[in-house]
Amino acid sequence: MTQPPFETLRLDGVTRRFAGHAALAGLTLDIRRGEFIALLGPSGCGKSTALNCLAGLLPLSAGSIWQDERRLDTLPPERRGFGMVFQNYALFPHLSVRGNVAFGLQMRRLPRAEVRRRTDEAIELVRLTEHAGKLPGQLSGGQQQRVAIARAVVISPSLVLMDEPLSNLDAKLRLEMRTEIRRLHQSLGLTTVYVTHDQEEALSLADRLVVLRSGRVQQVGTPEELHTRPANPHVADFMGFRNLLHLKAEKVAGDSVVMNVEGVRLTGTAVGDVRPGDDVIAAVRPEHLVPSDEGIRCVVDVAEYQGRDMAVEARTGDGLVLHLRTTTRLAPQDPITVTAAAPNLLVYPAKDDAWPT
Ligand code: ATP
Repeated sequence: MTQPPFETLRLDGVTRRFAGHAALAGLTLDIRRGEFIALLGPSGCGKSTALNCLAGLLPLSAGSIWQDERRLDTLPPERRGFGMVFQNYALFPHLSVRGNVAFGLQMRRLPRAEVRRRTDEAIELVRLTEHAGKLPGQLSGGQQQRVAIARAVVISPSLVLMDEPLSNLDAKLRLEMRTEIRRLHQSLGLTTVYVTHDQEEALSLADRLVVLRSGRVQQVGTPEELHTRPANPHVADFMGFRNLLHLKAEKVAGDSVVMNVEGVRLTGTAVGDVRPGDDVIAAVRPEHLVPSDEGIRCVVDVAEYQGRDMAVEARTGDGLVLHLRTTTRLAPQDPITVTAAAPNLLVYPAKDDAWPT
């Protein structure tokens, strides 16, 4: 009953419209067997729509889905052979843990001994053996999510789809389950597509991330690529580059761009085509704005103590707001001068047509 192995799952221009509005517009992506893919983006960007199109819960408005040479998007959900894990667990409340996990195998009319063996294995895999006889209502949120995961993987799916599976759990449990999901993905050799709006979760779990915004792909890349070199200011913003400064490029030499903030020179690194005189958006993470005597002069507005360091909001004389982090104790009204090293200051053309909106 194991699903046939595949090399590539291909989404080709997958589009879904609701009343003429494209919730997902032309998603093209090759998912290789064994990959962990995260679909990432803010609320309403089309993540769940993409997952539901893959699962067969939503028909496509355009495009197609292929597992190697086999066309999938015309098949009903149960014939795609995918396992699904949802945010709300969606367990049968009247069935025990064992009953919930066995359900998919029983539906496939497998011999009783095989159902029992595979159910026990899956329950052991998610470390719930001692709870196997309990009803979902007698379990904690984390345990219920483990049942949902066991139920998804017990059918040996060719692909596991997860829609924000950890969002109902508290912070500590979320971290534990994150490790658990990665462990299962690796040890079972699964191929996983995982939806989340949490960039940290996506970066820590996925081999590749797909960042969506308004139904369009903004960037596909490894966690490192997205973390260090977001393709446009939308992705940069989403990846924690909290400072997006609207400036002008004064000089450009290769990918080195010189800008000016209230009389202070800043040198950044161009991402894309930047020319002298262009309006640009310079992106920098709070932790990469560092104190410097020659830096931009500002005054602290808000200083929040956060244990290891302080999160500070400061304002320049012209009212430009900067977000920074520092281990120096600062209080409102304290003066501070900051700058950023060129590799940490990414400079994007500010033209609207320079990236997908
Ligand atoms: P969230 O993180 O909030 O779940 P999401 O990224 O998963 O968001 P989707 O649920 O895919 O976003 O929704 C994408 C867009 O499509 C949104 O603008 C949403 O309002 C719209 N949409 C989704 N489902 C429907 C529907 N059944 N009918 C009409 N519009 C819909």
